Amino acid sequence: MLHKNFKNIDKVTYGRGSFSQLTETIEPIRKENKNYFVFIVDNYFNGKPLSTKLQNKAEDLVYFIDVDPYEPTTELIDTLRDEILAQKGLPSGVIGIGGGSIMDIAKALSLMLTNEGSSTLYQGLNLIKKPSVYHIGVPTISGTGAEVSMTAVLTGPEKKLGLKCDWTVFNQVILDPELIASVPTDWWFYTGMDTYIHCIESHSGIRNNAFSLAYGDQALSLCREIYLNDGAGQTPENNDKLMVASLMGGLSLTYSEVGVCHALSYGLSKIHGTRHCFANCVIFQHLADIYPKGHAEFSQMIKKHNIDLPQGLSKQWDEDTFDKMATVSYNLPFMWNHAFGDNYKEIATMDYIKDLFRRL
Ligand code: NAD
Ligand code: ZN
Repeated sequence: MLHKNFKNIDKVTYGRGSFSQLTETIEPIRKENKNYFVFIVDNYFNGKPLSTKLQNKAEDLVYFIDVDPYEPTTELIDTLRDEILAQKGLPSGVIGIGGGSIMDIAKALSLMLTNEGSSTLYQGLNLIKKPSVYHIGVPTISGTGAEVSMTAVLTGPEKKLGLKCDWTVFNQVILDPELIASVPTDWWFYTGMDTYIHCIESHSGIRNNAFSLAYGDQALSLCREIYLNDGAGQTPENNDKLMVASLMGGLSLTYSEVGVCHALSYGLSKIHGTRHCFANCVIFQHLADIYPKGHAEFSQMIKKHNIDLPQGLSKQWDEDTFDKMATVSYNLPFMWNHAFGDNYKEIATMDYIKDLFRRL
């Protein structure tokens, strides 16, 4: 298909305290299916006040999942799915409460509850055979855009790749800015910069268009208010804005494409396990020649918030490591194509990509 035909979230609730409306939001689904719900909650909240406000019923299953230090795996999803189906059969729905990792777990689980076999079989575009169960995303850390994207990124034995199809997208998202108030300042910065980089990359390439630019411009302007201008900082008002920026940044890249930083970031994460948003920051600091304006602004934001990014990482890597990282990045041709145009193959060679990694 020449033009993308993307699936958006069915329903969105937004505003401070909106999480308290979860019970009434899922009531119609409970009535329709007369079945239980699965709550997938970031283990950070285990024992914290939020864990007493989940609004789960006695029949529901609640899992607190530790997303540190590893990003979600196919093995985790398969084990969880088998356990849930064996214990209680098919649920009415899945509710994910957490950051990008939990968003991806909730999306992948909702798909794998209705699709047989291992999730490794479905890593890729439109490989899923049957519709998912109903699923809700409640982000507690903002920036990746995982709350709106069509993909559930999983690390498998062979590849780090999403289950990507229309059914991956959440049926409902609840954006409650109060939930991101407890995010540590360094992560508030890295994840917000993921949004910023999404927009810079979405704008700088051949696939941008009025649709992606409109969302991207708005998200960039919010990022400037949150991280750069007078009034910047981790305040309730800025948390209101960050939740919207994350969503709009996600929509911008959905209708355009990410670029060089994300292509490299996948290589760094796959080989070294570096977390997505942090990996992007570590890389973007070295891309002044490719994204000059975005880089200049990013550097100002780094300075303003006293962020200390690691340097000299590549000194410890041998040629084999460079090869492995570059291979992962090289195999994301749509990102290089977007960033460099139709003759991208002449620019983004393995040697060129390895040289970019040598900058780190
Ligand atoms: P995360 O979910 O990995 O969480 C990062 C850390 O923040 C964890 O320690 C978590 O426990 C903690 N945390 C979460 N909410 C908190 C809160 N309110 N207060 C304090 N601590 C909190 O973070 P992320 O950066 O949002 O997500 C990264 C993941 O998202 C990666 O697995 C990446 O692959 C995935 N991702 C997915 C997409 C997509 O479109 N599906 C896009 C980009 C990244
Ligand atoms: Zn990203």
